[in-house]
Amino acid sequence: MRDDNCIFCKIAAGEILSKTLYEDDKFRVILDLGPAAKGHALILPKDHYANLYELPEELAGDVMKLAKKMAKVMTEKLECKGFNLVQNNGEIAGQTVFHFHMHLIPRYEDDGQTIGWKPGSPSQEELEEIKNLITRD
Ligand code: AMP
Ligand code: ZN
Repeated sequence: MRDDNCIFCKIAAGEILSKTLYEDDKFRVILDLGPAAKGHALILPKDHYANLYELPEELAGDVMKLAKKMAKVMTEKLECKGFNLVQNNGEIAGQTVFHFHMHLIPRYEDDGQTIGWKPGSPSQEELEEIKNLITRD
């Protein structure tokens, strides 16, 4: 499964050169060209899925297993102090390349990055309403 107009399909297939950290039959892990921090990498499935909604369940599990392995190796080698996994779906959520990918972001003291959100302050009633919305059949 491939989209001929997709740059990550071409990178994953090895048709466009990348700094590859790991490769197997399902995935290629590459260094991000616009890194948030030293070693920022991306897990790319070799097959084209636009986002998490399209990603098959089994492959989603494989992505998380690979993220764990990469986080271990990268933390040892880079001697980073923490690690963010980031995965954006949809333009509104910050996705800019519409081929599923998981960001692996090593974190260092004073790296100057803030990966987060402004916390809201919902009431218990609002939380209850949202819980009901999500969990009702
Ligand atoms: P997202 O905003 O979650 O869609 O992330 C897309 C990421 O892909 C950004 O961090 C970009 O820096 C990165 N990126 C875009 N094009 C390339 C490329 N050709 N090689 C490596 N990373 C890329
Ligand atoms: Zn693609």
